[in-house]
Parts: sequence; C-alpha cells; structure tokens
Amino acid sequence: MNQALFDLVYQSVVRRESTYDGVYYTAVLTTHIVCRPSCRARTPNACNVTFYTSLQAALREGFRPCKRCRPEEGGCLRPDAVLAVQADAIMEARYSEHLTLEIIAESLKVSPFHLQKTYKQVTGYSPAVKLDRVRLEKVRQLLKDTDLAISTIGQAVGIRGASHFAAWFMRKTGLTPTGYRTQFKEEANHEPDPHISTYPEHGE
Ligand SMILES: [Zn+2]
Repeated sequence: MNQALFDLVYQSVVRRESTYDGVYYTAVLTTHIVCRPSCRARTPNACNVTFYTSLQAALREGFRPCKRCRPEEGGCLRPDAVLAVQADAIMEARYSEHLTLEIIAESLKVSPFHLQKTYKQVTGYSPAVKLDRVRLEKVRQLLKDTDLAISTIGQAVGIRGASHFAAWFMRKTGLTPTGYRTQFKEEANHEPDPHISTYPEHGE
C-alpha cells in the first residue's frame, strides 16, 4: 500500500467512517487487535497501524478480532472460520513448543471439545493433523537445507527424543529422517550441471 492510499484509509479511521469497512482491516500493532476502519475505539497512531485487505490475512499474522466492532461479522468469514484461522496462526507460530489441543484451546479461550469440533467442521481435518503438516513441512526443509543433527531437528519442531522423532517421521512419510535426507541429496546430485557444455569445443 502506498503512502497516499494509506493516508486515505487512515483518514476514514480518524473520522470513524464506514467507507472502507469490508475493504480494509485496521491491524493495531500495539494491541494485536484487528478492527473495522470505522471502529469506535480510541484511534490508534498511524505509526502503529497496518491495513490488510482481508481479515484472514490479519488473523494469520496473529491479530485478534476486536470485540467492539467485530470485523468478522457480515464479512466472508463466519465466526467458526475465524476460530480455525486463529488456531492455524497459533500452530504456525508455536510448532516448536509442546503444543496440545488443550493449550491451543486455552489460548483461544474456548474448550478443547469446541475447538476440535469447530476446526474439523471448517477444514475437514483435526488440529492434530494440521500440526503434523506444519511440522513435516518444517522438518523436510531442515533436512534438505541444513546439516543439523536429526535430534536437533526433532527438537526444533517440538518432538523430543531422536527415536521418537524418527518413528513419527517414518509413520508420516515411509522414510527415516536420514533416509529422506540421503535420497534428497542424491536426487540433487543428479541434476544436470548447466556449466558443463555437452558439445565438444572445436577451435576454428
Ligand atoms: Zn474495533
């Protein structure tokens, strides 16, 4: 967003006008709350404001919907979808911790039962499946891009104990972490080297 557009939208925040409601969402960096531009709460300083074009994007960055202006109402995200996106944001930010359904539910101030049921209704899978996906993606990246020890990678995604971690990875991918790393490096070595000319050079 350029400065001129920012100023325009920020003016609607100052004046509490609804012109940009549903178009932009006001994320306040100091409070981690996301509002409609027309919110009646105290006007945040421009330097603490970021505008998002979707509520989902703001929630993914960890902002919570304002209890006063309720930016999720009348928008394309129903309250249950908001909860699912907030749970995703927690899992994506805190996958390196020992994270349980109870801990995620507590952070969102709902019961574990409600979170499990709502999340599954919205996404079609459970929070545990999502957390596994987030962790697997991170593990694959670390195995490919780093030479970190297997146990270190396990700890980096919140799974303690090298053998426990290896068993988890095996269950999810059919390969051991070391096997996955070896296979990836072998494949990488078979990439043709673009610097080697396939034509013999002849002096003319
Ligand atoms: Zn608000």
